[in-house]
Amino acid sequence: MSGSKNAMIWDVHAHLNSPRLAGDLAAVLARAQAAGVERIVNIGFDANSSAESVALAEKYDFIYAAVGVHPHDAAAAGSQTWDELRALARRPKVLAWGEIGLDYYRDLSPRETQRRVFIEQIELANEAGLPIIIHDRDAHGDILDIIRAHPPVHGGVFHSYSGSWEMAREVLSLGFYLSFSGPVTYRNARHAPEAAAKAPADRLLVETDCPYLPPEPHRGKRNEPAYTVLTAAKIAELRGVSLEEIAAVTTANVGRVFPRLNSAAGE
Ligand SMILES: [Zn+2]
Repeated sequence: MSGSKNAMIWDVHAHLNSPRLAGDLAAVLARAQAAGVERIVNIGFDANSSAESVALAEKYDFIYAAVGVHPHDAAAAGSQTWDELRALARRPKVLAWGEIGLDYYRDLSPRETQRRVFIEQIELANEAGLPIIIHDRDAHGDILDIIRAHPPVHGGVFHSYSGSWEMAREVLSLGFYLSFSGPVTYRNARHAPEAAAKAPADRLLVETDCPYLPPEPHRGKRNEPAYTVLTAAKIAELRGVSLEEIAAVTTANVGRVFPRLNSAAGE
């Protein structure tokens, strides 16, 4: 689909069905393609947004989907949610189960419920044969305890990674990938740039988490997939390599972390 000679870039974490992006989605997607962000993984956060995510992936050949319940929405999830997500997870363009995890910063669901729902979804991902996409905010210790006790057998991604390099080493030793977003470009960022500089090239991914977390110079405004290039360029600078190299290695990594891409649905 691309006439571009540059390596393509994947935005592995977007929320295109957000009302902040849905209004001018055609223009947003055109800017992404023009910038070289030729593939996007759209992420669910509850049953409805997961269904919307799959619908987007089935409408656009360059969009893929993940399905799952975010820790904010954990309290509302029940057996009907799991039935719906199980069915969605069988659709060929669904690459991962997520985003799932723990958020002890906003605490929008009780922590005990967040932990139970995280564990339930690791088991569902294992049954579905999918890797997971982890949301971890101020919950590093409990996230690590849970993934050690309930291993996600198909691995996965720590999305919008902003933890310490010490934590990153643990995450990497468990086989996970680190996905970096806008905050790696922030002048006052402490941990993310260090982890992005030191992580092995074969475990790096890039994302927007749009409409949230825009990279510089768009901080404070709406984020969109085209800006993945700015985050990738910052990672290239931190590592002393070219943007093309970051594009190439992160694209190769996508093919390993999301094995379903290599089946019939992949191209
Ligand atoms: Zn997200």
